[in-house]
Amino acid sequence: MLLTIGLEIHIKLKSMNKMFCQCKNQQNFDDLLPNTNICPVCTGQPGALPTLSEEVLEKTLILGKALKCKINEISTFDRKSYFYPDLPMGYQITQLYHPTNTQGQVSFFLDNYTDERTVNIQDAHMENDTGKMIHDGGQALLDFNRAGTPLVEIVTLPDFRSSEEVVEFLKELQRIVRYNTIADADLEKGQMRVDVNISLRKSETDPFGTRAEIKNINSFGMIKRAIEHEQIRQEKIYEAGETFSQQTRGRDDTKGESYLMRSKEDALDYRYFPEPDLPVLKIDDERRTRLEEQAITIPHNIIKQFNDYGFNKEYINAIISDKEILDYFMNFVDQKIEPKLIVKRIAGPIAARMKENFKNTQELPFTNEQFGEFLGKAQDGSLMENQLKIIMDEMLSTGKNLEEIIKEKWFDAPAMDSNEIKLLAKEVLAGNTTIVEQYKAGKTTTMGFFIGQLMKKTWGKTNPKIAQDIFEKLLG
Ligand SMILES: [Zn+2]
Repeated sequence: MLLTIGLEIHIKLKSMNKMFCQCKNQQNFDDLLPNTNICPVCTGQPGALPTLSEEVLEKTLILGKALKCKINEISTFDRKSYFYPDLPMGYQITQLYHPTNTQGQVSFFLDNYTDERTVNIQDAHMENDTGKMIHDGGQALLDFNRAGTPLVEIVTLPDFRSSEEVVEFLKELQRIVRYNTIADADLEKGQMRVDVNISLRKSETDPFGTRAEIKNINSFGMIKRAIEHEQIRQEKIYEAGETFSQQTRGRDDTKGESYLMRSKEDALDYRYFPEPDLPVLKIDDERRTRLEEQAITIPHNIIKQFNDYGFNKEYINAIISDKEILDYFMNFVDQKIEPKLIVKRIAGPIAARMKENFKNTQELPFTNEQFGEFLGKAQDGSLMENQLKIIMDEMLSTGKNLEEIIKEKWFDAPAMDSNEIKLLAKEVLAGNTTIVEQYKAGKTTTMGFFIGQLMKKTWGKTNPKIAQDIFEKLLG
């Protein structure tokens, strides 16, 4: 049977303040004592009125633009009423009937960066988060520091057909919000929460099957496992000739299973109605013009550009996972340096060293200018690949500048003519007669040793290919 998947994603917006009051908004509140970041508005005191944060609106609109949504001239807020101790107002303020952003589209690459997909976004709307209930030694404790912080909920159409599509879409979405400083969206930290709606049907033309919504998912691996598991669970039900009712399930990843949380719920259960304390939200021409002028980074387009550069998957991964690295890379592309020359270093020695020692590119032991000079040398062809490698390693471990290393290593010694090199090659062979015999007996791997020795004698100035030719002739 065909798998059909739709997503509802909650992303914690990065703003100074909460959504409707002046309390602080943080990515997490671990550093604050419980209930120290609250006010009458976010704790739902009688008479307290909400005022929408300008910054929250701005970020929501930027997200709308990045998701290619229609940004509606008029949108409204609604109350979603339910009782739970972590919800002091007794309702959540959301946008059910007239969301700000509707009908968007996101294009993304699958894991190989060649196959592309596009999925439709139903809407991307604002809503406020709840507080936290903490169970501790038989007690339920409430902390409202998080209550009223801004979320944006992105609802997709059921356009996904595999777990891979879901994961790669979520990675693209993460890059979109990170690149445009809308949110950090770390799944593990609960800054991005994903609910997955899964159903099966016989063919694309059939109506959608009954769906199950899986909640409590907090890693990409878990999303994959949850989808695969749910697909099998539903298939078994249909194979047995049975049916099931629409339901919400929680995922217990350690047990590798899901459990029923609640059966069918719909809008009626939440008694949605227009929020009377907030005015209709009007996007006027001035704001629209400002938004049109705002530069937005679409990661999918950047990856396309990388494909044009001929980058392999490893190169692309090394650059796109972190906006800071991406900017670092782009800075040198802007200086007209061949992209492959840059990415080779960033994906290779720099990435390796950053993993061990440095948090970001600013902590690297050389300045951008120094690295730029290095890349310039790599581009003008005056140094050979093995020399460049030695210099890069030296720059990374000592922070010495390019010219200094070149002098130290004698890389600026005048080029030798082929007769000089041949003489030195003969010296190498004369000094290593046992190894020469081994070579002649068929142990051709000793060639690397001869080349290495010649490199030393010529301060790395010999092209290994030429060295090999010389040795092959001498030994031939
Ligand atoms: Zn507050």
